[in-house]
Amino acid sequence: MSTLAIHNPATGALITEIPADDAASVARKAAAARAAQPAWAARPLSERVAAITRFRAGLVAEIDQLATTLTSEVGKPISQARNELNGLLPRIDFFLAQVDQALQTEQVFADAGMTEQISHAPLGVIANISAWNYPFFVGANVFVPALLTGNVVLYKPSEFAALTGLHIARLLHAAGVPEDVFVPLVGAGPVGEALLAQDIDGVFFTGSYGTGARISQAVAGRFNIKLQLELGGKDPTYVRHDADPKVAAESLADGAMYNTGQSCCSVERIYVHESLHDDFVEHFLATVTTFKQGDPLDATTYIGAITRAPQLALLERQVADAKARGATLRTGGHILPGPGNWFAPTVFTEVSHEMELMREESFGPIIGIQKVSSDAEALQLMNDTRYGLTAGVFSRDELAAKALLAQVNAGTVYWNCCDRVSPRLPWSGHGDSGVGLTLSTYGISTFTRPKAWHLRQA
Ligand code: NAD
Repeated sequence: MSTLAIHNPATGALITEIPADDAASVARKAAAARAAQPAWAARPLSERVAAITRFRAGLVAEIDQLATTLTSEVGKPISQARNELNGLLPRIDFFLAQVDQALQTEQVFADAGMTEQISHAPLGVIANISAWNYPFFVGANVFVPALLTGNVVLYKPSEFAALTGLHIARLLHAAGVPEDVFVPLVGAGPVGEALLAQDIDGVFFTGSYGTGARISQAVAGRFNIKLQLELGGKDPTYVRHDADPKVAAESLADGAMYNTGQSCCSVERIYVHESLHDDFVEHFLATVTTFKQGDPLDATTYIGAITRAPQLALLERQVADAKARGATLRTGGHILPGPGNWFAPTVFTEVSHEMELMREESFGPIIGIQKVSSDAEALQLMNDTRYGLTAGVFSRDELAAKALLAQVNAGTVYWNCCDRVSPRLPWSGHGDSGVGLTLSTYGISTFTRPKAWHLRQA
């Protein structure tokens, strides 16, 4: 039997070794899930709602253990692990409140002889392949609405958050979701590949661009499979000449360094008008020095460990490239001594788009700040990217900010804020940041198949 070793990225220590899936077990479990789907979909919605409501209660009851497990296997500061769990509850509440409406058959037209309706059936068997950085958020964005709408879910958590994934499964099963209806699959990429080879109706993936591209190739030509990809970003923010530099700096330092910079919507590029650039940088650096880095289990820690060791090499490469091309290193710029995976919070100024730091996702506590002289230059630079997840503008002028944000190529835009996700709003990426969406009422309907009914009375 294959196994998966789970290490603590903050210490390098082996936490445990757990049984893992292989191609044969994935095929067996996928077939059982397929067989279980009709009965799950046939249950009254109230039963599925009751099960997810009990799951929510389970999360609340076990929040301490869940947060500790997440911190141990991912290196996320414990206060941020708790924030993620607490932030999950309103998402679940939103789905619970909206699912009834999303499943209603809508009558959209009626006249003397003809009625037109839209009905919504579940897709069927969902493959949910997930990232480690926010395993509760990115997992629940898929499996909660998918289960509520009558789908069964083959859930492959990241190999870096597998204990959290198994804990989620235990809570769902204890809440009354049958074991063949929510099926955790343990392992790394090959287990995901085996899952894609099964009889599935949808792939809902959160992870890197490279894996997303491989997944889209793996299911190419299988048009019965709905494909959704939530991928990386290189999210920009522009601090306009009329912004408050201190307020913007404090907010953006948090946006860049929260979750150790390992958020899909981390602020990854900052453009600052030349008139307040130096003031902004001073406040930004002052804020970063207040961020305590260290033991993720310490409640006062703000910057934790780098979850995946290979990411350290990418961060080092971006630092070397930025230095070689003339950027000014203002703080950090190096790996910290182990054990474990640690990188110092890093701030560069005098950067340009020739540097990898300003082009490719960093996914770490590192940021480039670039001086600009006009709105037009800032807009051109913000859109000079293949990604398009989020973008922001800080300004006292609402009209000017909204005019810029309307022209930015991103699925989500922010005025005077950043790094924010709401269950009421759709979460989607333009360009290489992804395909499809989660959250909002659209993020419930996406797990259903609309059918158009033309009904003429005999
Ligand atoms: P990753 O692509 O390395 O892995 C994601 C998942 O895919 C894991 O479960 C992994 O085991 C699986 N996988 C790997 N190879 C596979 C294959 N060939 N076939 C099928 N599955 C395979 O990404 P990660 O390191 O876990 O996550 C970080 C990335 O996720 C970042 O780029 C981040 O921006 C992105 N992300 C995006 C969002 C969003 O909402 N857009 C949210 C969170 C994270």
